[in-house]
Amino acid sequence: MRVAIIGGGFCGLHCAKKLESKHTVTLFDTKDYFEYTPSIHKLLTNADYAQKIQRPWAELLKKTTVITEPVQSLTNSRATSQNHNVVFDYAIVCTGISYPIFLKDTTDVYTVTNGHQIQQLAPVLAQAKKVLVIGGGLIGVEVAAEIAESTQAKLTIVHPRDKLMERNPSKAGNYAKDFLEKHHARIIFGEKVVDREKNTFITDKGTKIESDLTFWCAGIKADVPFFSGDKDKKGYIVVNEFLQSSLPNVFVGGDIAGVQEEKTAQNAHLHADVIAHNLLALAEQKQMKSYTSKPRIMAISLGDWRGICAKGGRVLNGILPALLKKFVEFKEK
Ligand SMILES: Cc1cc2nc3c(=O)[nH]c(=O)nc-3n(C[C@H](O)[C@H](O)[C@H](O)COP(=O)(O)OP(=O)(O)OC[C@H]3O[C@@H](n4cnc5c(N)ncnc54)[C@H](O)[C@@H]3O)c2cc1C
Repeated sequence: MRVAIIGGGFCGLHCAKKLESKHTVTLFDTKDYFEYTPSIHKLLTNADYAQKIQRPWAELLKKTTVITEPVQSLTNSRATSQNHNVVFDYAIVCTGISYPIFLKDTTDVYTVTNGHQIQQLAPVLAQAKKVLVIGGGLIGVEVAAEIAESTQAKLTIVHPRDKLMERNPSKAGNYAKDFLEKHHARIIFGEKVVDREKNTFITDKGTKIESDLTFWCAGIKADVPFFSGDKDKKGYIVVNEFLQSSLPNVFVGGDIAGVQEEKTAQNAHLHADVIAHNLLALAEQKQMKSYTSKPRIMAISLGDWRGICAKGGRVLNGILPALLKKFVEFKEK
């Protein structure tokens, strides 16, 4: 069976690992290495951390053919990039989501999504006197905690809700707030950054915050221009319980799949398990299995040695969650 995987993040890597021994697998990705995204923020204060979170494809995949070009078009049997045209029996789309910056002027405003770019920013951050983090969700908290713990910059966080990481239990948000405030960060709740004048950022309530370097950690966008099958109102690809899209030979996993749940590496990995199983089941004419979404453990790092683990209503704070996150990072690559 010929399988084309589009996107080499968590879902793509794990699908390739599971399928490459039995099938002909081609993986398209924009990078020539796998990047462990949940630890990208570590590069802000330690550019050498890249060695721990980036692994060349050849070290991870033995038989998969990797094409480092973005896919530009996809039919039910063919994936095309600038220089390649791959015919497949089944394809898996797992290109993730993007984190667009909703400001007209994006000078010195960055998302924390591309390790290479973040590495280049480490010396800039070390010199910055005023830093702003926009968004106090999971990513904003991890980014802010890293900066608060390791730099002397005057740090401000702006979050539109009344608590940090509001989709988690209050205890988790309160612990993060205490950690950040102990490290002299200022948190502005209930406001949104909507505009800027040079280095002054302005919220919807008129608060002005000066910043030399700003990290945008607010909002996500589903964007798969090459996919012609069904998408939902927000742009996520519609899938059935087996993670098949409306194009019968195309499965979809990871953040871009239209499944109502937290967009996490853990869920992307679990999608890969279901998709790999279902492709093998189709090849062997066996029954496919369904994907079931449920609350899972979430590990959030606060600097090097503190963290939060949350599952459902339960929360554990302190050093153990930080160690757990380091262990998962070590194991996942
Ligand atoms: C700073 C940060 C911290 C995070 N922390 C955590 C955490 O602690 N725990 C957790 O579980 N999750 C965390 N996440 C979320 C987690 O990283 C994502 O849920 C996960 O990476 C999604 O995996 P994926 O396989 O869907 O796609 P991704 O990992 O996003 O990978 C998609 C890949 O597709 C490639 N691609 C895109 N378009 C194309 C194309 N046209 N052709 C070919 N390739 C393409 C991209 O280059 C990329 O390599 C964090 C994310 C960020 C940004």
